Amino acid sequence: MKIKPHWQILLSLALATVTGLLFRNLASEPGGSQDFVTGVVGISEDVGQFFLNLLKMIIVPLVVSSVIAGITSLHGMAGFGRLLSKTAGFYALTSLLAICLGLLLVNVIQPGLIDGAPNETIREAFNDHEADAEDLGKVKEAQGVGSSQGGFISQLSGFFLRMVPTNVISAAAVNGQMLGLIFFSILFAVAMTRLDIVRISPLRDLFVSLNDVMIVMTQWIMALAPIGVYALILPVVFKTGGVLYIALSKYFLTVLLALGLHLFVVMPIVIKVLAGVSPMAHFKAMRTALLTAFSTASSSATLPVTMRCVQENAGVSKATASFTLPLGATVNMDGTALYECVAVIFVAQVMGFDLPMAAQFMVVISALLTSVGVAGIPSASLVAIMIILTSSKIPGAETAVVALLAVDRLLDMSRTAVNVFGDSCAALVIAKSEGEKVLEG
Ligand code: ASP
Repeated sequence: MKIKPHWQILLSLALATVTGLLFRNLASEPGGSQDFVTGVVGISEDVGQFFLNLLKMIIVPLVVSSVIAGITSLHGMAGFGRLLSKTAGFYALTSLLAICLGLLLVNVIQPGLIDGAPNETIREAFNDHEADAEDLGKVKEAQGVGSSQGGFISQLSGFFLRMVPTNVISAAAVNGQMLGLIFFSILFAVAMTRLDIVRISPLRDLFVSLNDVMIVMTQWIMALAPIGVYALILPVVFKTGGVLYIALSKYFLTVLLALGLHLFVVMPIVIKVLAGVSPMAHFKAMRTALLTAFSTASSSATLPVTMRCVQENAGVSKATASFTLPLGATVNMDGTALYECVAVIFVAQVMGFDLPMAAQFMVVISALLTSVGVAGIPSASLVAIMIILTSSKIPGAETAVVALLAVDRLLDMSRTAVNVFGDSCAALVIAKSEGEKVLEG
């Protein structure tokens, strides 16, 4: 019998915890086991690094092809330009609302701090990559963050300047310049849609196929997740004694609360105001899609169900649904954007890395941009979180991603449901604005 992927990950988590604790005991006993234990933990760290390298290896082609394929695949439809600007506006607005909600809660609840100081247990788990105070100082200086010279506006303009790469090839090659690459990809895709469909379709097909290939490769890598998780968590438990899970619970609840508020409060208000429909009726129409999203943790896998629910139950026309939903499944991810923002600021809190307002604003923009490049498959956000952590020079990026993976599954399921609901609301609002009769009666 084949065990479902999320059970495999949970199982390897449990095994890693048990082995980690066992090794901890062995190492503390007088006798000859220390060398053996340290040797195995060392190998485990290397295997974990191998898994992380695999994830990083696919970032550039995955993100570029996902953005370009998502934006261009519907080029050629009647009313394309008008629909694209309306849909993009709605997607940007709702993603920003989600991110700001996440930002607010993570700052109010401060899941990474205990009594105002960084949570040492989690910090220890991230310790491997901790930079010393001098390094942090240099980094902040280079970023213009936290320096006394230059206020909010100049820090902000610096960020936007850095977002535009002077050389797109080197932006792709250099760690931490992914935002520049995403910015270029969005412009590139929009430029493609300005050209004649017949002339541009070979290029478009190339990116669509590239994206399909990258999704298969991502699935292969994610199939190794149980091994990767085991190898990465074992040393963490060995060093921290497993209290990491308890320490992460506040973070876990913060994400769930923010996702819940976005799904059950913010989005219902948005559709009520913009489309004048009953949120309850829309929830009812989308029931099956929400459950499918929750259980598969993949917006792309849920797409056929979302399409059916939106057309058959909510009464959106086929044309509007087939424009907004496939695009939404790849580029519009409210839950993911919110999650990225909470996760990144949480890691900064844990690392004692002070993020002034300008830096937090940059996290907001980065979350918005990277959520566009995240593929609609399980755990895809981890790639984006890695990008933001590296580009904002917050130390501990890699081990942080691992620790977050330990509690990711339920959060992934929940944010995917929020992602899919966001897409369906876009379909509803756009349909209404095009004069269609939706959710009537
Ligand atoms: N699993 C999410 C989705 O498919 C993406 C993510 O946030 O990892 O929508």
